[in-house]
Amino acid sequence: MEEMRSFGYICPACGKAVLHSRSVFALNAAAARMECECGKEALTAETDGLRFRLQVPCGVCGGHHQAECAADAVLRGRGIGLACPEKQELCCYIGEDAEVRRAMEGLALRVAKEKASPDEAFTDNVIMYEVLSELKDIAGRGGISCACGSHRYTMQVRRGAVDITCADCGGRLRIPAATDSDLDDLCCRMTLTIPGK
Ligand SMILES: [Zn+2]
Ligand SMILES: [Zn+2]
Ligand SMILES: [Zn+2]
Repeated sequence: MEEMRSFGYICPACGKAVLHSRSVFALNAAAARMECECGKEALTAETDGLRFRLQVPCGVCGGHHQAECAADAVLRGRGIGLACPEKQELCCYIGEDAEVRRAMEGLALRVAKEKASPDEAFTDNVIMYEVLSELKDIAGRGGISCACGSHRYTMQVRRGAVDITCADCGGRLRIPAATDSDLDDLCCRMTLTIPGK
């Protein structure tokens, strides 16, 4: 089986977690460009055989960073994390798929937390984490839509709640995320419908 390496970052343009895999062979052979599905940002990786030069879109500070890493660290081992020099926080992961996936989940959560305005501080607890992963599952099977017919929406993390806002009509659905029963309620739902405007 061909050896694969995964790359993960948060797109500064649209806020999505971006995950790509490339074979070690392909990474050695040519410069790699790993675009976000919004098409606005891309991570690039290029090697001279000894080192990799990376251009990383940074979802933590919203900028872009250049990094150089030993080719060995990029191509072998469990993986590495690259830190944002502005905020001193990890903003990009490279390595084994499972490791990168797990690290990216943590990163997506941290970035969402950072984006919540100070007076609506993120409820940093297990319930919020569970609610967000439940929402991710529902969204993953296409279960979130708006009464206006739209399937495009944004999610904002509030204190003890998550707001899902329709990107077309602006309708809003608030999902409480503070207690066990909030989580139980959500787990029973196969689909979520934003009421529309
Ligand atoms: Zn994007
Ligand atoms: Zn940064
Ligand atoms: Zn709508």
